[in-house]
Order: sequence, then C-alpha cells, then structure tokens
Amino acid sequence: MSSTPIKVLFSAGDAAWPAYRKALPKAFAQHNLDVDLARDHAPGTVDYIVAAPNGPVRDFTPYTRCKAVLNLWAGVEDIAPNRTLTQPLARMVDPGLTAGMVEWVVAHTLRHHMGIDLHIHGQDGQWRDHVPPLAQDRPVTILGLGELGTACAQALAQLGFPVTGWSRTAKSIDNVTCLSGDEGLTPALQDAEIVVLLLPLTDATENILNAQTLALLADGAFVINPGRGPLIDDGALLAALDRNIAHATLDVFRTEPLPADHPFWAHPQVTVTPHIASATRPETSALCIADNIARGEAGRPFAHLVDRARGY
Ligand code: NDP
Repeated sequence: MSSTPIKVLFSAGDAAWPAYRKALPKAFAQHNLDVDLARDHAPGTVDYIVAAPNGPVRDFTPYTRCKAVLNLWAGVEDIAPNRTLTQPLARMVDPGLTAGMVEWVVAHTLRHHMGIDLHIHGQDGQWRDHVPPLAQDRPVTILGLGELGTACAQALAQLGFPVTGWSRTAKSIDNVTCLSGDEGLTPALQDAEIVVLLLPLTDATENILNAQTLALLADGAFVINPGRGPLIDDGALLAALDRNIAHATLDVFRTEPLPADHPFWAHPQVTVTPHIASATRPETSALCIADNIARGEAGRPFAHLVDRARGY
C-alpha cells in the first residue's frame, strides 16, 4: 500500500456516480489500494482518471501527473481522437458488459431465427404451423472478433449455428470459421443469413455495411447492429430492406437518441432498441478499473490499452 493515497478522479455523467462511489472503493479495497476517489481533485494532483465521454473532463492537458485514463465504455471513438489526451488510454473490458451483450445478441438472433414475431403478432385464430430450421442450417456471421464478438460467436456456436467471424488480424476460435482482412470480408458476408456487427467505429469500419456488402447477404437475411450506428450506411440499409434484407435490429445510431421522425422508427422491418444492448456494470467494471490501477502502481503494463493510431 502506498504511503499517500492514490488520487482517482471520476469524470463520468452524474447518473453514474452513485453506483460507482460505492463499487469503486470496494474494488480498490480488494486490490489493497489506498485511494482518494473524488469528482473534483485539483488537476495537477490526479493519478488516474476514470472517464466517460459524457463526463466533465474534455481537456486532459492540466492532468500532468495522470498515469492513465481508464474509459468506462468499451467504445472509444469519442475519446480516442482527443488530442489533449496524451496519457495512456485503456478501454473497458468488463465481464458484466460481455455477459449482457451475449444475452442481447443471442436473444435477437433467436427471435429472427425462430420467427417468433410471427406468433407474437399472429394471435388471430389462424393456425400457422411455421417450423423454423434448426440452428445448424442458419449461417451467422459476426463482424468483429474482439472481447464481445468472440463471446457472442462462441455462444451462438454452442447453440449449433454455423458461425463465421471476421476481424482485422487472423484468429483461431474453436467452432468458429475465422476470416480476416479486406480479402476476408466478402466470403464472411456471402450468403450469411444473420449478420451481427460488433466492430469498433473507426475510419476503416465506417459504412462497412453499404449497398455492395449488404447485397452479399442471403435473401431474407437479418442484420443485427449492437456495434455503432455509422458502421451501416443508413440509406443503403433502407434500400436493402426492399430487396434482400428481411429485418434489421438496431441498437446504435448515427444520432442518439434516434430522432423521433427518423424512418427507422416507423419502418415495419426495423426494430429500434435505445442503445441498451449492454451496459458497463459498476460492480464488475470497478474491479477492472482497480486491476488496472494496481498494474500501474506495480509498474506493470496496463490492460486493454487503446491503440490511438488504429482507433480502438
Ligand atoms: P474489441 O476492440 O475487443 O474488438 C474489436 C474487433 O473488431 C476486433 O476483433 C478487431 O480485429 C475488429 N476490427 C477492428 N477494426 C477492424 C477492421 N478494420 N477490419 C476488420 N476487423 C476489425 O472491441 P469489443 O468487442 O470490446 O467491442 C466492440 C464494439 O462494441 C465497441 O467498440 C462498441 O462500439 C460496441 N459496444 C456496444 C455496446 C452497446 O450497448 N450497444 C456496448 C459495448 C460495446 P482484431 O481482433 O484483429 O484487432
């Protein structure tokens, strides 16, 4: 334990503070860290910043002593480009966040796979004996094989879906066909019946689903996007819903909240969920933050560092 308390500044939205002011001290105690946690430390005294894009700190320049900025969110597209941030930036990898995303992706995949809507909306006295195919006959593709994409791929493979995943660098995951790089995208999407987007938003991934790539998907395919809104060209998706795409379930959008007059709200083949696919969970994420501070204090490398040039 260090002789003077480690100063940790909490710079996230007001709504997050009550849960984290309880969860973080418990997590620091588990790691034997003597921490002075506050929302208003003098900038020059701060050792670590726990940050979220909706927090008050936008200019990191005065935080001259700060050893790392620990982002509360998995996505870093709002903070990574900040030029005042010269300190190491770590993103959130949280077992609670991962578990929540697996549940959301599996639920929406099964909804479309089993045609559950047919029965929910068909309680009208007609006996519709629609029998869905087995999972083994429904190819699913996951774009992004990071923390979340890999966990979702494994859960869907466990249910019997033939799962193909796509990432920037080559991967090997049991029971998942792994493709990578520009040359892997077309075979990953070709004839996929369900595609799940779990890519970070970067210059390279924006509009990855566009008129050309949407046309590769099977007739009657389903698009599920819990990644980031700009991964999809909205106009191309709306056009594809009249062609080969049966339904899009979208959790994230270019503008959030999604404006009330946006065509996605009223479209019969679109389901909008309000960026709730998965949330950072205070109890589990506090442990990740404490672990990273313990690493920093022990002179060990921080976990889950963002590569600023790569953008994720
Ligand atoms: P990771 O950084 O762990 O994984 C990102 C994956 O995307 C990696 O497999 C990476 O490849 C791949 N990737 C990145 N760029 C490219 C590219 N140009 N071409 C091909 N593959 C690429 O992120 P997470 O899994 O933790 O999170 C993914 C995203 O999910 C977040 O960035 C965020 O936007 C979103 N999210 C949404 C939430 C919600 O509630 N809707 C909640 C949490 C996250 P490689 O492995 O080779 O590096």
